[in-house]
Amino acid sequence: MIQTTTVFDGHNDVLLKLSRLGGPAAAERFVTGLDGQIDLPKAQAGGLGAGFFAIFVPSPMDLDADMALMRQPAYDLPLPHPIPVTEALPVALQQSATLLRLQHLGALRICTTTAELRDCLENGPIGAVMHMEGAEAIDTDFHSLDVLYAAGLRSLGPVWSRPTLYGHGVPFRFPSDPDTGPGLTDAGKALVKRCNDLGILVDLSHLNEAGFWDVAQISTAPFVATHSNAYALCRHARNLTDRQLDAIRDSDGLAGLNFATAFLRQDGRMLDDVLITRMVEHLDYMLEKLGETRVGFGSDFDGAQMPRDLGDAAGLPKLIQAMRDRGYDDALIARICHGNWLRVLEATWTA
Ligand code: ZN
Repeated sequence: MIQTTTVFDGHNDVLLKLSRLGGPAAAERFVTGLDGQIDLPKAQAGGLGAGFFAIFVPSPMDLDADMALMRQPAYDLPLPHPIPVTEALPVALQQSATLLRLQHLGALRICTTTAELRDCLENGPIGAVMHMEGAEAIDTDFHSLDVLYAAGLRSLGPVWSRPTLYGHGVPFRFPSDPDTGPGLTDAGKALVKRCNDLGILVDLSHLNEAGFWDVAQISTAPFVATHSNAYALCRHARNLTDRQLDAIRDSDGLAGLNFATAFLRQDGRMLDDVLITRMVEHLDYMLEKLGETRVGFGSDFDGAQMPRDLGDAAGLPKLIQAMRDRGYDDALIARICHGNWLRVLEATWTA
């Protein structure tokens, strides 16, 4: 039996963090503890039993400056330039190697089936879904996709917000709806089909609205936004409109609650004084729109400002307590914590 409060998390950026610390050689630091939002001790303390580990190729940008801009009452960060495959692939391989190193150290297990994930959620170690946030490292012949699939890749976002050969993403813009430009390219449409054929989840988070509808038209799998919130509560370009939530519901898909304060707060600012009850307000809304079987978590640990009261992965029990305080029963808590993610991955990977 998987414990009711064991968490499956739809997004973290610890591979990027480890990449900045030296890549595979820094993997031990995940085991002993990092100055960040997720590592092995914090995951164990918070009951995080499995999750998506994102491979992400960073642009040469000043994260601190971007974060400072996002603390303003309104902002529109310019999107970084595209990154060619030749530059992106070595970075993606280094982060993949870090994930393999973490598996070798026994800190996690790369899972490609829901049976493996269930086993991890029940008995440990952390179950890791290899995810790629932005397809910069994927050539249009899909050779690197095939090789990464063999290494365990089971989830892919055609874009992080920066444009790729495959499509266009939403900028970090507030206030703004997600209808910010053109959608998928022809190569992007081919990528979605290829992912469907392989059983790779196509992540809708970060796509703009046109891209979202392109995927919705092509994809044969349930629609999943791994780490996005409700636009009705926070008018950020990264959040999902009611129409998008309806489409996710109709496909029997899932949206993962993003803990980043800029996507939670009504004023869209990346400030940390956010009550945990605000996270539950987004959950309430997502449950109302999507139904109880289509909402999960997608924390964005190590990728964003967390609510101060939550802090990091060790703070997950505080969120679960807030859900209890709101009247969520054990069955609903188990669904949101891990059951819904297992359901949608089962449907996606075997489709
Ligand atoms: Zn993201």
